[in-house]
Amino acid sequence: MRVTPASLRTGDGRMFQVEVELPTGRGARRSRRVLQVAYDQLNQTLRRLGQSGARVLSITSAADTGASGSDSAPPAPAAMTEPAASPESTPPAPRRAEGHEAVPVNLYKPKDPFVATVLDNYSLLAEGAIGRVNHITFDLSGGNLHYVEGQSIGVIPDGEDANGKPHKLRLYSIASTRHGDDLGDTTVSLCVRQLEYTNDAGETIQGVCSTFLCDIQPGAKVKLTGPVGKEMLLPADEEANVIMLATGTGIAPMRTYLRRMFEAGEREKNGYAFRGKAWLFMGVPTTPNLLYDDDFRRYEAEYPDNFRYTTAISREQQNPEGGRMYIQDRVTEYADEIFSLIEDPRTHVYMCGLRGMEPGIDAAMTAAASRRGLEWSDLRPALKKAERWHVETY
Ligand SMILES: Cc1cc2nc3c(=O)[nH]c(=O)nc-3n(C[C@H](O)[C@H](O)[C@H](O)COP(=O)(O)OP(=O)(O)OC[C@H]3O[C@@H](n4cnc5c(N)ncnc54)[C@H](O)[C@@H]3O)c2cc1C
Repeated sequence: MRVTPASLRTGDGRMFQVEVELPTGRGARRSRRVLQVAYDQLNQTLRRLGQSGARVLSITSAADTGASGSDSAPPAPAAMTEPAASPESTPPAPRRAEGHEAVPVNLYKPKDPFVATVLDNYSLLAEGAIGRVNHITFDLSGGNLHYVEGQSIGVIPDGEDANGKPHKLRLYSIASTRHGDDLGDTTVSLCVRQLEYTNDAGETIQGVCSTFLCDIQPGAKVKLTGPVGKEMLLPADEEANVIMLATGTGIAPMRTYLRRMFEAGEREKNGYAFRGKAWLFMGVPTTPNLLYDDDFRRYEAEYPDNFRYTTAISREQQNPEGGRMYIQDRVTEYADEIFSLIEDPRTHVYMCGLRGMEPGIDAAMTAAASRRGLEWSDLRPALKKAERWHVETY
């Protein structure tokens, strides 16, 4: 979705073009329309469109588009007008994530999982880090378990629960590209943090599946299901902009995107000649907790025009108020640039990590939006509808 903050701020009767896909009858294709909407009707219109099931693809200041009949045309009445979309005026195809239909899902189900062999399991943390986070790679050869970047895999840990039943599966975001870390097309890697907490009785409790995975040895067999998920797919557009907000193991899908974009062997193999801007915001408690940091720094050095890497190290850095530096503080710090990027309909935002990160990001975006005269509570659903706001938190 394209938003033009400077114009929106004025509220002086300017017009905006809202590009929508309207629902049609059963089986019929959704039709595309460009609506001319006055500023003071914008929020209300977006709400109405949302309720009607229409998908908002972009919002552009009519003045900025240079489209015929926008800037120079006499201002339309405050209400919406709806010109028919001619072939010439039909906007380009939406910058959607890669062909959803072709994305594999549920190739292996819990009743009949794929039994993979562990190839590798090593710590991703440096000396002095908090907790335990491992990179674990499985051999998928001999089966049909394949996936694309942004999907998740189910793991069924060995053993039984307290009721003597087999453990249920846990989902993990895939951390390798579809080609696998060795580019051989027959592996999948995960980035797993061991869950550990103290219960009310003061006992240390370790998570069943995360501990099973962090402890697992090469050669062991593991039951896998999936893949699942279409929320976090990368757009096929090689000129898309990709803003990534990750905390902890939420880096897993981001690593797949960045390898696909910038890792030499990957690029050669996948033919994905990324030319847009990728910007990773990564939040961790301490520097030794940064994950895949060397790779990201290398990409930054090799592709300075295409990749930017910003960290928030909560226990080491301070925000402007003197508190801990969390990822939302970085979002606030760079809000102008982030909003300028979001204004571009080719920009997608991905958020992944612990669920607790969402309110902070929301608050930062709300504050940044309101400084531009925008309502984040309206913008976020519009971005979501345009399939440009992707969230997977757990
Ligand atoms: C789509 C998706 C993707 C995911 N991707 C990843 C990933 O890439 N990497 C990763 O490490 N994890 C990921 N997870 C989380 C993962 O699925 C598991 O939930 C996690 O590993 C814990 O599972 P476990 O079996 O170790 O814990 P369990 O033994 O299942 O224990 C979890 C339970 O412990 C309790 N609990 C947890 N913390 C506390 C606390 N502080 N105080 C009291 N009780 C508590 C809660 O009841 C919780 O349900 C993802 C989850 C989803 C849904």
